[in-house]
Amino acid sequence: MLVFANRFVYGYFSSIRFVDIHSNKKSIVIKGIGKTVVEGLFLKVFDAHCDVLWKMWENKGLSFKDSEDLHVTWDGLKQGDARVQCFAVYVPEKVKKESVFHVALEMIDIFYEKILRRFPNMRLVTTKKEISELKPGQIGAILTLEGCDAIGTDLEKLRTLYRLGVTSVGLTWNHANAVADGILEERGAGLSSFGREVVRMNNEYFIWTDVSHLSVRGFWDVMETGDFVIASHSNCKAVCANPRNLSNDQIQALIQKNAAIGVTFVPQFLAEGTETTIIDIIRHIEHYCSLGAENNIGFGSDFDGIDHTVHGLGKYEDYFNLVNSLLKYYSETTVKGFIFNNFFSRFPR
Ligand SMILES: [Zn+2]
Repeated sequence: MLVFANRFVYGYFSSIRFVDIHSNKKSIVIKGIGKTVVEGLFLKVFDAHCDVLWKMWENKGLSFKDSEDLHVTWDGLKQGDARVQCFAVYVPEKVKKESVFHVALEMIDIFYEKILRRFPNMRLVTTKKEISELKPGQIGAILTLEGCDAIGTDLEKLRTLYRLGVTSVGLTWNHANAVADGILEERGAGLSSFGREVVRMNNEYFIWTDVSHLSVRGFWDVMETGDFVIASHSNCKAVCANPRNLSNDQIQALIQKNAAIGVTFVPQFLAEGTETTIIDIIRHIEHYCSLGAENNIGFGSDFDGIDHTVHGLGKYEDYFNLVNSLLKYYSETTVKGFIFNNFFSRFPR
């Protein structure tokens, strides 16, 4: 029963309901909602960002099956009814320049050996058709790059990553590389000439260009150059003033660009303060929707890239709690868009 669907949408929810929620933050617990998600019928999640490859690279002993130290595991994905999970290759900044590409290959090796080979129902997907053809019980895995540090200044390295299955390229992490500056780099430079070549090559090969983490100038450069743009894990600056979050102008430009935007579960990007709840995520969704992004937003959890998690959303299988909460405020069609269709429909290949 969708008693509340469409009632607390956008401005309405923000202006009336919000005050309430905010002042009673702790008492708003996502329980007793009119509808419970039926496993296998409704939930088919497309999550645009997780860092489990990085975590498994840092700690080679972790098992993807069910490790307690991972947010995303095979068992968790199955329980949470995942349909498509993006796996980021993120080479940490401590790695020496001469080794970055090799480390990216090591992470891709972990992806193939410890995930795809060990769990045959986890399928590498590189096209929309392959996602559509996933059989019941199968989960699609998209390989993504988080930060072009790994390719140095070599387009052939990027093409090698495409051939290994990478279909989404985040241009930077937080600092500078040969492509552009990241958002925490003081200089704040936009795309270099090489960076423009990278974006043009992404266009040519139908690869997503991901602007999460990118400097503001770099963002606007991509708005000019990129054909298939996403922000895989970014929230709203108007709701939480973290530099990693997007301004209203940026959000509107992403809508104009027909980009998918992943709301992320990183507590520091959700709210200033100590504990965050699912309501904090809904506040960002509300803001996105008030700007017209209802058909653009999805989720990029950043699971395994975060130390702290949202209350009630501690690991992948808890997606149920989020979806149940969303169903309280939005129609089923809208929720399906958020959890799957808005990213899926924009997959460029
Ligand atoms: Zn990130």
